[in-house]
Amino acid sequence: MKYNFGAGPGILPQEVLLEASQGVLDFNKSGLSILEISHRSTDFEAVLAEAISLVKELLEVPEGYQVLFLQGGASAQFSMVPFNLLDESNKAAYLDTGVWASKAIKESKLFGETVVVASSKATNYNTIPEGYTIPSDAAYFHITSNNTIYGTELLTYPESPVPMVADMSSDMFSHAVDVSKFGIIYAGAQKNMGPAGTTLIIIREDILGKLSRKIPSMLDYKAHIDGGSMYNTPPVFAIYVSMLTLRWLKKKGGVNAIEKENIDKSSRLYTEIDRNPLFKGSADSKYRSRMNVCFVTHDPNHEKPFLDFVKTKGIIGLKGHRSAGGFRASIYNALPVSSVEVLISAMKEFETLQK
Ligand SMILES: *Cc1c(COP(=O)(O)O)cnc(C)c1O
Repeated sequence: MKYNFGAGPGILPQEVLLEASQGVLDFNKSGLSILEISHRSTDFEAVLAEAISLVKELLEVPEGYQVLFLQGGASAQFSMVPFNLLDESNKAAYLDTGVWASKAIKESKLFGETVVVASSKATNYNTIPEGYTIPSDAAYFHITSNNTIYGTELLTYPESPVPMVADMSSDMFSHAVDVSKFGIIYAGAQKNMGPAGTTLIIIREDILGKLSRKIPSMLDYKAHIDGGSMYNTPPVFAIYVSMLTLRWLKKKGGVNAIEKENIDKSSRLYTEIDRNPLFKGSADSKYRSRMNVCFVTHDPNHEKPFLDFVKTKGIIGLKGHRSAGGFRASIYNALPVSSVEVLISAMKEFETLQK
């Protein structure tokens, strides 16, 4: 038995993997694999339509928004967002809360004036800045809702005078979101929604079409909206498995039900981190992530032995990102509470072994 705390691609529900493997062999009893049918077939069109309608239903997406499943990962969105929204006539504002945010900022600078309203880089991104001003003449304000590497998360969003754009790659579908606060929400599938290979984009259509710049079709939201996410061949398998995961989430009671589980799982783990004298949490407790729980050992000499110890328990993926160190327990939607209990028991057992 393995307990998968990996940060991404992350854990998927076992029943989704079972059904997906069946679809690879014989999709909808068609005698064909999901991997070898036309993306224009009615069978696949139904998959895409259901994926889109599940996103709309689960997040209560208001009128005026489009849901897209594209390729290129969240990283492609780092440049697609400014390509579509930013030029010499305006500016963009960004909140720098980690490596992913700073990569987004780097891309934005290729397209126009980019204002970093605040940064927590000086404290190795262990918190989320406060007390900044968002320029009211910016085209948009970009945030990263969950900082996968450092374990910080924005659970309430800033009030922005301009459309907000959010990279929600690692906390999408972990709790309810008021979509109407955002111009664009994007998320690579492989953290909390499905396999690598597709990126979900929820976009308010009226923020588009304001620039005179010409945009290559593959990077133009409008082209993908007009094509209904089928401007070119979509990532059929990644969309299929994402759709199955969203079905699973709906069956579980949707984002409100999963939010309760995520609060329960993360608070159990943080409680143990705070109680256990060997460990301490890495992130400012005000912004602790419910998805990526980052912690370290007080004594650096305990780090490697703990990693070796948890391996004997079947716990994998616990090593922290190279730019943060320590440990990171990614406890995405599909990770059962029983796995969190296994980790907590291992922490307690390791504590007694040091005595
Ligand atoms: C993983 C991650 C990314 C990068 O996603 P890709 O799909 O690999 O491009 C971007 N932002 C956040 C918050 C992430 O967690």
